[in-house]
Amino acid sequence: MKCKFCDNNAVIELRAYNLKLCDEHFISFIENRVEKTIRKYKLFNREEKILIGISGGKDSLNTAYILNKLQYNVEGIYIDLGIGEYSERSKGKVLNFSEKTGIKIHIYNIKEDFGMGITEIARILHRKPCSVCGVIKRYILNRFAYEHGFSVIATGHNLDDEVATLFSNVLSWQEGYLARQNILLPQRDEKLVKKAKPLALISERESAAYALLRGIDYIKEECPNAHGATSKFYKHILNQIEERAPSTKLRFYLEFIRRGRRFFEQDTKEGETQLKPCEVCGFPTTRKVCQYCTIKKEIQKRRG
Ligand code: SF4
Ligand code: ZN
Ligand code: ZN
Repeated sequence: MKCKFCDNNAVIELRAYNLKLCDEHFISFIENRVEKTIRKYKLFNREEKILIGISGGKDSLNTAYILNKLQYNVEGIYIDLGIGEYSERSKGKVLNFSEKTGIKIHIYNIKEDFGMGITEIARILHRKPCSVCGVIKRYILNRFAYEHGFSVIATGHNLDDEVATLFSNVLSWQEGYLARQNILLPQRDEKLVKKAKPLALISERESAAYALLRGIDYIKEECPNAHGATSKFYKHILNQIEERAPSTKLRFYLEFIRRGRRFFEQDTKEGETQLKPCEVCGFPTTRKVCQYCTIKKEIQKRRG
């Protein structure tokens, strides 16, 4: 099997694009695609300070690596969620990556705010770890970015993540979520930093192959709390569809962004809930006290 662009042997076949590529051409294919996504969706420019949320997984490390390579102004933040050995190992990968690439990565430990890790917080509040974790991560990313002068937060969401979310939201017609799903989430408030997903058109498989070819060492094990997540089941189904009909995932997502999304946006604009400052921390929320401060207060109360 020969590369489409040179005489070298192809190392990967991309059926969605009908391409077979050697390692070098695959690497430039991915990097060009990310650069095109950034330009087409006007995610950010080279003057902006970009903060990348880094978990130690392939997608967030790839995001940092590619944006740095494309000469964007990036720094990362690793949020230590205090999930036992899993957090220790992922932090190790992140520190290693930072040392090798020279990309500055801030470490934020949630134990400093809560005195405990995510699993324990969720247990005390009788909530699912991922829902508590989502609230806490989003809040810290935004507050850190705002307080340190970053104009944009980039995350490592890949095409499979995006398509699974879209699929799930369509299955239950979550109009509000559909209106807000996009490659760029613009700034809605002075204290809400815009969010971008530069890897949104790169599939999970392409991302794994890129990390492998670039020698990026990432954490392969899953968070122990991810066990049984519905998104995994949806990804599995979507991969079966993709197997039968290559490029379905890309088409489903891109056509939603191009054509479908605006209908939900129009519907929800009128009734969009007003943001106001949280009475405790001052960051924008739709409630009196934001979810982060509510969790913090509740934990402090329980601990006495
Ligand atoms: Fe957090 Fe859930 Fe992801 Fe684990 S799987 S890092 S608990 S959101
Ligand atoms: Zn080639
Ligand atoms: Zn608050």
